[in-house]
Amino acid sequence: MPNSKEVFSWTVDQITLDEHPEEIRSIIYLMLEKKFNITKSNIIAARDIPDFNQGELHSIVKRINKGEPIQYIIGTQEFYGRSFNVDPSVLIPRPETELLISTVIDHLNMSRIDSPKILDIGTGSGCIPITLQLVLDAKDVTGIDISEKAIATARSNNQLHNTQVNFQLADVLNDPFPDNHYDIIVSNPPYVTEREKSGMKINVLNFEPHNALFVPDNDPLLFYKVIAEKSKICLNYGGIVVVEINQLYANDIELIFMTNSFRFVQTIKDLSGKDRIVKAIL
Ligand code: GLN
Repeated sequence: MPNSKEVFSWTVDQITLDEHPEEIRSIIYLMLEKKFNITKSNIIAARDIPDFNQGELHSIVKRINKGEPIQYIIGTQEFYGRSFNVDPSVLIPRPETELLISTVIDHLNMSRIDSPKILDIGTGSGCIPITLQLVLDAKDVTGIDISEKAIATARSNNQLHNTQVNFQLADVLNDPFPDNHYDIIVSNPPYVTEREKSGMKINVLNFEPHNALFVPDNDPLLFYKVIAEKSKICLNYGGIVVVEINQLYANDIELIFMTNSFRFVQTIKDLSGKDRIVKAIL
């Protein structure tokens, strides 16, 4: 029977990914804990592993070496301090998207809306509306997505967190918003252009859902135009839109909101200094 330290070293040695050795070690720690219940302290103590499933470890190593994101392999990702179920039908929550949450919280600290009514467009795993419901104690929160599978994953996250976000199948480009009295509308829509594909890593390009990532080169701001136009009709006076953006288009996106009667349109930079969030008040 192998001990956990041997299994850890063997696994690390099998990984052929072009990543920093520290990154590989932390991926393997995470994977062994989530898939085999082998914790870091077990590994350090070189504990024996009863019933070790070697076949499963081999198949996981193969998946990692093909570039499959570890989050899809273990089925979860942390976002804003909580764990969310993920699978290939949804984008893996990104740390920079936490800025969308803190932008909404900062705004509400300055304004006077109790229990705001919230809509999230292109909700994916549902990490945004579930987090907002929990941190704001918001009762009326809706998340829409064009993908039936994504809606199922989002609902599984509702169960996981014991939240009551109303997840609905809808196509933002062609369907009206479910209601028209929101205080807050948020979205992390697709915003990567086809021509940016060449600079992307295979773990994103080959595994994450393209309908959540890409927009056509000839209309990269398609989602922002529709969101601004529909939000103008469906937001309460003084309500806000907060969207994640492609850093290449901050000025154009600001302009879209300004030409749709929004005021105090503002771009906020993420931790790496990139334009990441646009906030607009109606
Ligand atoms: N930030 C994501 C990425 O770089 C893209 C997210 C999106 O398109 N909304 O992969």
